Amino acid sequence: TEGHSRTGTIFRGLVNHLVEYCLERDHDLLLISGTVRQAKLYEHLGFTPFGPLVGSGEALYQPMYLTLDAFLRNEKVFPALRAAVRKRRGEALNFLPGPVAVSEPVRAAFARPPVSHRSPQFAETVRTVQRRLCELAGAKSVQIMMGTGSLANDAVAAQLSLLDQPGLIVVNGAFGERLVDHALRFGLRFDTAERPWGQRIDRDVLERALDAAPETRWLWAVHGETSTGVLNDLEMLKSIAAARDLRLCIDAVSSLGSVPLNLEGAWLASSVSGKGLGSFSGLALVFHQDELAAQPGRLPRYLDIGFYAESHGVPFTMSSNLLDALHTAVEQFEGARHFRRLERLASELRRGLEELRLPIVADPPSFPAIVTIQLPAGTSSTAFGEQLERTGHHLHYRSEYLRSRNWIQICLMGVCTPEMVEELLFVLRGATEG
Ligand SMILES: *Cc1c(COP(=O)(O)O)cnc(C)c1O
Repeated sequence: TEGHSRTGTIFRGLVNHLVEYCLERDHDLLLISGTVRQAKLYEHLGFTPFGPLVGSGEALYQPMYLTLDAFLRNEKVFPALRAAVRKRRGEALNFLPGPVAVSEPVRAAFARPPVSHRSPQFAETVRTVQRRLCELAGAKSVQIMMGTGSLANDAVAAQLSLLDQPGLIVVNGAFGERLVDHALRFGLRFDTAERPWGQRIDRDVLERALDAAPETRWLWAVHGETSTGVLNDLEMLKSIAAARDLRLCIDAVSSLGSVPLNLEGAWLASSVSGKGLGSFSGLALVFHQDELAAQPGRLPRYLDIGFYAESHGVPFTMSSNLLDALHTAVEQFEGARHFRRLERLASELRRGLEELRLPIVADPPSFPAIVTIQLPAGTSSTAFGEQLERTGHHLHYRSEYLRSRNWIQICLMGVCTPEMVEELLFVLRGATEG
């Protein structure tokens, strides 16, 4: 009933203030005699009963204790209190686009003793992880490399170099510009189709660029543009590539694990272990639709995806720790539920930022995992980022492209909860009010 929930709210407020009081005095355990009539509420708040009941007749009480950690597990803890505890303990909340916050089971998998990459057990894990990754991405095959997203994109550029045909690269952010750099280093011939940073690439721009260069045979684009938080339209890219018989390459480095992904129709796609999938950085992924042959005469050994495929996914040394961590991350990955949760967190965050009048760079519909904010001219993103860091809230502001535009970025990849977002909005409110 309403009366009940009001009592609950008042009671929660009381306990929050009581815990705050204890914290200020360095107490870490709260002991009470709780009336048996409210036992459920106490337990919900994290109290644990101990010993026999005390009192008599109508007035019976249960001795109970509350630890700080048990209390913090409750979602009704005030964000101010959470922030205070975090500061005292020197703990940090990670809102970086990498390294992302890694769950306990993934960390435990990483910490297991290494096994040989030549063992049958390792080969079996590689097959399992490959199968699961292909399910998640709607892809036919995937090769796992030791490296980051840049290595995966170099491997894509290497395959494109074999075609010896002109292509088109989509540029509407820092990572689109990076694809251009990958292509230049491989001596690829290409044009670019560009949009201002923060805007999605649209069909008209692409069709016009392709009409102007009818000899184009491949198309390379970033899906989730991590720099701005723009999500380019993969279905549109796929339909244009299919209609014009272009080989489509997709940078899905931050979109895999952050949004539903279907790479069917993409010739190649790159991704990583350490962003949307929530594992450690260090494994690069290249998805491929066709069987690829090794190219001993034409490509560096390390970049030759066909060589990986012909070596059953393990051409040379690979860290079993990174593989086991990724294995655990993909096994515990919840798919649709995870995407829905991320959408909810992102809209919660966006609503809060709107209230604080912090403008978001990307045109909607944007990428739920990344919010890039334009700070007003009077507030430096570096100073703002450093201020938040001192309270244990790590946002991304250190990249040159962010600093030069006075942007700061919040990333929801990896472990992220509603309480984390609530606390972040609380500290942002404090920081923007001066
Ligand atoms: C992170 C990222 C990359 C690769 O960067 P690394 O630092 O090499 O991991 C490429 N593309 C996008 C869209 C990214 O977010």
